[in-house]
Amino acid sequence: MTATVIDGKEFAARVRGRVAQHVTRLKDDHGITPGLAVVLVGEDPASQVYVRSKGKMTAEVGMKSVEHRLDADTSEADLLALIDQLNNDPEIHGILVQLPLPKHLNENLVINSVNPAKDVDGFHISNVGLLGTGQKSMVPCTPLGCLMMLRDHHGSLSGMNAVVIGRSNIVGKPMAQLLLGESCTVTIAHSRTRDLPDVVRRADIVVAAVGRPEMVQGDWIKQGATVIDVGINRLDAPEKGEGKTRLVGDVDYASCAKRAGAITPVPGGVGPMTIACLLANTVTACCRANGLAEPEGLTA
Ligand code: NAD
Repeated sequence: MTATVIDGKEFAARVRGRVAQHVTRLKDDHGITPGLAVVLVGEDPASQVYVRSKGKMTAEVGMKSVEHRLDADTSEADLLALIDQLNNDPEIHGILVQLPLPKHLNENLVINSVNPAKDVDGFHISNVGLLGTGQKSMVPCTPLGCLMMLRDHHGSLSGMNAVVIGRSNIVGKPMAQLLLGESCTVTIAHSRTRDLPDVVRRADIVVAAVGRPEMVQGDWIKQGATVIDVGINRLDAPEKGEGKTRLVGDVDYASCAKRAGAITPVPGGVGPMTIACLLANTVTACCRANGLAEPEGLTA
């Protein structure tokens, strides 16, 4: 069997197109421009790349994009004051604080100081609780993107066995909650799981969010299973030239694609969906703040 490749790049472009249509409607019919504020503390190079591309794509779909770049030694009080200002700014509907934060800042305190209605990352404890109890919430962008691709590929996920590898607050746990919400039978595997290959072999859906390059092997995959690779790992690639690197996922693509029914590539799978879902969440937050109908199919 050769797996169907789930093209996240193309899917994300479609999602951004729908977001842009909704933004146009909000502007034309209601005079409202959705606004996203991104806060970056420090000079982490990967975070700078993410923030730049988030800003660019926010502007491309017609939304207002605001960036706040703060020094690495910014005090907690100053950061909380900025978040308070954004919480109270009627032109800002989504606030994203880029993680990780410098060590001297209390990440949980900062995340929980964002107004939950503007928490487009879905990390605020209120949104975590709402998701866990099956209520309307802001859903973390990466798992939301995975869910959209799974729904698009399968239609109903009801009754399927899903194994999520990884239990982080950002990906693994919310992914498991979303799949439970779709009536999957969900197993969360992690670094202490015994016989991981055997656990994965039972899965109709495998979501790998581990941070270990090409860990999931083809002989772990049940014939026809759907494999969603969240991992982004940068490896040295001397074969491409000195100092060059290449991106790989947490899944050994070549061997898994031979057994899977469908699989997401890296790059071009989950990654582009994450930013598309951030934009979708900002439009959703804007609609909720103004008592307007939310865009259909762009949330969980
Ligand atoms: P994390 O480090 O917070 O969590 C990793 C999880 O993997 C942990 O729960 C740990 O228990 C588990 N784990 C570690 N070693 C394991 C092993 N040998 N066997 C089984 N489980 C093991 O990472 P994260 O933030 O959840 O990110 C996971 C991966 O996803 C990373 O590669 C990250 O770069 C990527 N990521 C991608 C996107 C995207 O937009 N595509 C977004 C977020 C994270």
